Amino acid sequence: MTENYYSILGIDKNASDDEIKRAYRRLAQKYHPDRNSGNKEAEQQFKKINMAYEVLSDKEKRGNYDQFGEAGANFDPSQGFTGQGFDFSDFNTGFGDIFESFFGSGTRSRKKGGQSMRGNDIEALLKLRFEEAAFGTEKELKVTKSVVCERCKGQGNEPGSKIVTCQHCGGSGEIRTVRSTFLGQMATSRACDVCRGEGKMPETPCRDCNRATRVRKTEHIRVKIPEGIDSGATIRLSEKGEGGMKGGPSGDLFIHVEVEPSAIYKRNGYDIYSDKHVHVLQVTLGDEISVETLHGLVQLKIPAGTQSGTLFKLKERGIKKLRAKGLGDHYVRIIINIPLKLSKKERELYSQLALEAGLKVKTDESLLKRMGL
Ligand SMILES: [Zn+2]
Ligand SMILES: [Zn+2]
Repeated sequence: MTENYYSILGIDKNASDDEIKRAYRRLAQKYHPDRNSGNKEAEQQFKKINMAYEVLSDKEKRGNYDQFGEAGANFDPSQGFTGQGFDFSDFNTGFGDIFESFFGSGTRSRKKGGQSMRGNDIEALLKLRFEEAAFGTEKELKVTKSVVCERCKGQGNEPGSKIVTCQHCGGSGEIRTVRSTFLGQMATSRACDVCRGEGKMPETPCRDCNRATRVRKTEHIRVKIPEGIDSGATIRLSEKGEGGMKGGPSGDLFIHVEVEPSAIYKRNGYDIYSDKHVHVLQVTLGDEISVETLHGLVQLKIPAGTQSGTLFKLKERGIKKLRAKGLGDHYVRIIINIPLKLSKKERELYSQLALEAGLKVKTDESLLKRMGL
């Protein structure tokens, strides 16, 4: 069976106006884009249903269609063939209004202009050197954002100029349009684009912001970095975000902290880790060594026989705890350096040590001979 407007609506040629309406209502609800988001087939079907209904619900168009087919339906005796069906160019916005008016499923709420609005929060990244984070500092941050226009104090009008009633909408803030559609006369309203839905507007727009009430501005913001802060922390500066609209409060500024690594120290919470390279004899015999810490040089006793990798704890030589008492600790890891080159004398002494330790070290015979062994 070839598809025709009757088959699209699933009705027969003798269907009454009421039957056509009921069929349309049922199918339009089934294939409405709101219920079939992203479904191209449903969208096509929805268009067809509407096309069919447009024709069959109109006595004259239906008569022409019955007589001449599809071309006949669009025949306007005064203008000839218009070739126009329903205009779907604004399918997603325009049609929703008509559909809702028809089915009475509520009218779309339109955002009223003139309400005060809080400014947006903004985010910034702040890089800190290792020591800056450990000890705290003060930094200056350059932030470009929308701020309340100083010239008009956020009013949008040139200082001294009056706020007048919008001539375009007569002060209602709404533009009503009546369209002839296949469902009859449809009234839709939208925000007046001259006064932006406010009903009133400045007689002379502000020279700086041209009614926008806000302007872009680069601000230098000083921020105190607390002692002990670490990567991943966020500092919030209240009302340092974008300016509000119509007297609304400013948003906040969120500063995300990133701490650069140190060449010497590793950080774990408030504890610090560092490596200390020592000569094999220092750990063999025991020694007292100097260790670099965030708080200066510290003397550390390493007992004889200390093994490679041993951790020594320097109590409270780490980072000051954020919003708490006390400091973290500093851990020193001992790395034993084996001499890469020995002098002749050193070599003899090491060989003697090896013998003393009962080690049969396979070294060259000439050395042992020279030593008289
Ligand atoms: Zn301004
Ligand atoms: Zn207006």
